[in-house]
Amino acid sequence: MARDSRYDPLFEPVRIGPVTAPNRFYQVPHCSGMGYQRPQTLAAMRGVKAEGGWGVVCTEYCSIDDSADETPYPSASLRDDDDVINLRLMTDAVHAHGALAGVELWYGGHSSANLLSREISLDVASLPNEARLGQPAQSQAMSKADIADFREMYRNGARRALEAGFDIVYVYGCHYYLLHNFLNPCFNRREDEYGGPVQNRVRLLREVIEDVGEIVAGRAALAVRYSIPPRFDDDPQELIACFEQIAELPDLWDITVNDYYREMGSSRFFGEAAHQSLVAQIKSMTSKPVVSVGRFTSPDTMLSQITSGTQDFIGAARPSIADPFLPQKIDQGRLEDIRECIGCNVCYAHNALGAPIRCTQNPTMGEEWRRNWHPQRIESRHAEQTVLVVGAGPAGLEAACTLGSRGYPVILAEAEREPGGRVNRESRLPGLAEYARVRDWRLGQLAKMANVQVYPDNRLDTVAILELECRHVLLATGARWRSDGIGRSSNTPFDGHDQTSVIGVEQVLDGHLPDGHILIYDDEHYYIGSAIALMLSAQGKRVTMVSPQDSLCGWNRFTDEHAPLMRALIEAGVEIVTARRLRGFEDGLARLACIYSDQETWLEADYLLPVGARIPNDELWLELQGRRDEFTEAGGLSMRRIGDCRAPGIIAAAVYAGHKAARELGQGEAGARRDRVVLRGWSTMSRRRSGPVNSDCC
Ligand code: ADP
Ligand code: SF4
Repeated sequence: MARDSRYDPLFEPVRIGPVTAPNRFYQVPHCSGMGYQRPQTLAAMRGVKAEGGWGVVCTEYCSIDDSADETPYPSASLRDDDDVINLRLMTDAVHAHGALAGVELWYGGHSSANLLSREISLDVASLPNEARLGQPAQSQAMSKADIADFREMYRNGARRALEAGFDIVYVYGCHYYLLHNFLNPCFNRREDEYGGPVQNRVRLLREVIEDVGEIVAGRAALAVRYSIPPRFDDDPQELIACFEQIAELPDLWDITVNDYYREMGSSRFFGEAAHQSLVAQIKSMTSKPVVSVGRFTSPDTMLSQITSGTQDFIGAARPSIADPFLPQKIDQGRLEDIRECIGCNVCYAHNALGAPIRCTQNPTMGEEWRRNWHPQRIESRHAEQTVLVVGAGPAGLEAACTLGSRGYPVILAEAEREPGGRVNRESRLPGLAEYARVRDWRLGQLAKMANVQVYPDNRLDTVAILELECRHVLLATGARWRSDGIGRSSNTPFDGHDQTSVIGVEQVLDGHLPDGHILIYDDEHYYIGSAIALMLSAQGKRVTMVSPQDSLCGWNRFTDEHAPLMRALIEAGVEIVTARRLRGFEDGLARLACIYSDQETWLEADYLLPVGARIPNDELWLELQGRRDEFTEAGGLSMRRIGDCRAPGIIAAAVYAGHKAARELGQGEAGARRDRVVLRGWSTMSRRRSGPVNSDCC
């Protein structure tokens, strides 16, 4: 198919200083959890995006010195010659598909805790560490000599970037890292020529831009990542005034907002193109090309970004993770095949956990090299053998889709009238509508596969499964919520868990909403408890959330949803009680014990909704295990359980399990490769600096 000519503007080449991007699809720097520790994993992941049509593909933040070390969060690195060799893998992979490779040279300042390097962070002042870890440590206020050393670090980083083959070299001027802090009067109270009036505060950024510009001149474009809106008491006008001073200096502006939770706002709280008025404002202040993100998944929104002059590129991190082939699909007129990001931030959560990013929608993300999985290509079926998939939740749908695309005849049986499993119920909760894309994309793909038959409203039992005489059976029967209080903090049921005033998650999700004061005891710490709380309070019900941890919904810190979530709960009037374990619920009284002192308190409530662990629906699996001989005698070859019925987890894990089982059918269980850093030999480069850390030696 050919592309709709309406989208032609998205495919125009754009000049960025001395280089030209082949189109407007621009994968901005985004963390990958791979960093310098996993160079081959990283190279293959970025290379796949270039293959999928992204005209520019960038690294994540890339450290230029040992004193910019974000351990345990994995960053890229250009600190020495070995890093150059390792990042060459990435630039080669990107160039192989005609795309430009960009690198975001980064220095953390007070935001990096340097847990591995144990070096001292430099910054505009001696500021407390601000990383998520909140290390009780401070940066060193930079002297003039430190500033000179810092500029040399950036110059060295730029030299290595050229050696590594990058076409776009970034100066990182935002996100409360060092260069941003010089701009910001909340941090910069210096009294020398780097502090005070705007010309002084912008001086270091200007100098670094000029330094890097001299080094890359004519060989690579110079980009600056910059952010405007305020956090807390910051004044946006200050940052706008700084921007005016340097608006024409770089070849490209990458504009974002300071807070990650807004910049990569989850779909629960932020829509597509959430920052476009800010981006348009900046664009009107410079003649240089501008790129920015907005979780763009709709080609029409993308087009309007260009035709309205809001920006020159379609900046993307998550849409390129969920579908590395998004540009190619638009180009080929296959819009319905675009696998849209659901905005769950599970990708970012894994980086925040120090692991390679995973994606709810794209199970191949991070597995391109490790498992040799390609998002668009897959091994054909090994034999014409029918596969029965039981259960059409995320695991079953993904398995059926992947098996279908391998060419197997597939029967997908689902007990409910609507396929979708947990996604059907959960996507009806406030803010979770986009989670339905997990179901909808897969159903859309299945509808095109003549070899896959979907049978909704078909609850299969062991007899039915055996009678179907399929060669392979995959059970994806899901899990159900416990209502006895067993969860992350407790392995024993609470007293009174069998009373009728104790209600279950499914009961509430199915619309059986009691009147009165509802206490939600959240010992899952992810999204279900809070989403139900917001739904109930929107219906005018009194809701109290109790957590056995110090704060509610702790796992949402990894997805960077915690701040907007807490705000939403507070604004909705949800009462919040933390650090209390549920002991019992009787006669409208919940008995809670302080997790530290064990002191008991009582809370009145009409109903109690425990949200904790789930029970795998593995009864069918166990029965089938007991009748394995009959299955084999009838010609059955393999039987496997996948997703929540094996081990309940997040949706991304179920999708991955379905994909993996489908990939491995007829191939055997493939082990994963372990990445290794390529070392040229002992490097002295990063140890040669006579820099600021030594400047206090006598
Ligand atoms: P997962 O996340 O592992 O995919 P879900 O709970 O989302 O799990 O989906 C499981 C699906 O399996 C549900 O849609 C459920 O209706 C379906 N299911 C459970 N048991 C059977 C069965 N015996 N026959 C057909 N479908 C079933
Ligand atoms: Fe989007 Fe979620 Fe995938 Fe991240 S993990 S790219 S937010 S679907």
